[in-house]
Amino acid sequence: MKERYDVIVVGTGAAGLYCALNLPERKKILMITKKEADQSDSFLAQGGICMLRGEADYNDYFEDTMRAGHYENNKKAVDLMIRSSNSIIRDLLTRNVDFERSEEGDLLFTREGAHSQPRILFHEDITGKEITSKLLEQAKKRENIEICEYMTMVDLISRDNICGGVVVMDEQDEIYDIRAPYVVLACGGLGGLYKNSTNFPHITGDALGIAMKHQINLENLDYIQIHPTTLYSEKPGRRFLISESVRGEGAHLCDKDGQRFTNELQPRDLLSKAIFAQMEKQDTEYVWEDMRPLGEDMIMKHFPNIFKRCLEEGYDVRKEPIPVVPAQHYFMGGIQVDLGSRTSMQGLYACGETSCNGVHGKNRLASNSLLESLVFARRAADDILFGKKPEPCRAGAIDRKCYEDRETLMAGYRKNVLNEIERMKNSHE
Ligand SMILES: Cc1cc2nc3c(=O)[nH]c(=O)nc-3n(C[C@H](O)[C@H](O)[C@H](O)COP(=O)(O)OP(=O)(O)OC[C@H]3O[C@@H](n4cnc5c(N)ncnc54)[C@H](O)[C@@H]3O)c2cc1C
Repeated sequence: MKERYDVIVVGTGAAGLYCALNLPERKKILMITKKEADQSDSFLAQGGICMLRGEADYNDYFEDTMRAGHYENNKKAVDLMIRSSNSIIRDLLTRNVDFERSEEGDLLFTREGAHSQPRILFHEDITGKEITSKLLEQAKKRENIEICEYMTMVDLISRDNICGGVVVMDEQDEIYDIRAPYVVLACGGLGGLYKNSTNFPHITGDALGIAMKHQINLENLDYIQIHPTTLYSEKPGRRFLISESVRGEGAHLCDKDGQRFTNELQPRDLLSKAIFAQMEKQDTEYVWEDMRPLGEDMIMKHFPNIFKRCLEEGYDVRKEPIPVVPAQHYFMGGIQVDLGSRTSMQGLYACGETSCNGVHGKNRLASNSLLESLVFARRAADDILFGKKPEPCRAGAIDRKCYEDRETLMAGYRKNVLNEIERMKNSHE
């Protein structure tokens, strides 16, 4: 790791990698990540990635996204995402990302909750891994991109609201200040702050706490999505997701008496509410999801990993229902950005789940987040390349003493974020 780069990208998920890959090879880029480069939520995405299926689908896709978001979405951002989807998918195909195809070679589409049409591309039930591993492979081959694992951002370097780099810490608590005129925050969501979450536990919303410290604008921190169906377990740790496309393809939700009690394809927030209400009514810890209506062929071909994981937990989904419970899953709020992914601080960008450009409104439509991450990561790269240059940051040397007690520092960020979530929740009520 050097002391100076052209661009620093914090996070090696889909957003961070795609931003770095969309910058030219003459730019020296540092990417840092808290754990190994493949330990990001992007690798966990199961269901797929949305795309516009021709002009005839535009109005429906737009309306589905808006309806799921309770019409609180930024219409310009939604339009931009939908209109950019074809070029993103073309680009992924040229990067050797493999999506499911028919025997004739045409792309196949699946459907998830709250989508009026099938418009989701998928790769078995590991679409996120397929996309992100291909991006990571390419980033590793690029000579201008240096990836530093087990390196945690603990602060931004800034003066007069101009960003000048990041303060990072390795596993031995060694502190480094790295300078660059451009910093991109692609740090993912905040599931690690919750007991029950589908996210990696190390994704704890650090960028939000750091942004708060620097008075960078944040938005809708209380817009947190609960996924209706994760595999119930008494063990601690990350909850395993039972993808929405399982219900999209015909799985039923049943109460403890085996009776269906709600519409399985309603938006996530409404379905989670219906499940919680049913659990309370019958005093249970979970409800049941029955995949048998899909048939063995569909289960084994489309959902082999869900099949395997459930079997490890003692359930054969071909023969019996599985217990499911809602859990924290996705974060719609974040660091406020414009359509170029610029934050309120000069030289500082945010993209992916860390950011809030308003695409998702109050609630995300299934399979819109990988697409949104890629579209707005490329917007950040475009703005870095073609936008107005930030003024030089005149920040001096950092005070290393502030970072010596890592635990207290990071716990402080987490506490401030949780308090701000509560504050915003109250202000929305
Ligand atoms: C189980 C699951 C299934 C999903 N299924 C789908 C789906 O089917 N379709 C869809 O569109 N979306 C899906 N999503 C959501 C989607 O995967 C994410 O929203 C998206 O991938 C976020 O990408 P990202 O690059 O913003 O963040 P992430 O991929 O989470 O990457 C965050 C990165 O930031 C790093 N980081 C964080 N803090 C720091 C720090 N302080 N210092 C250094 N590095 C840091 C992390 O180590 C990581 O590398 C799913 C999510 C989950 C959890």
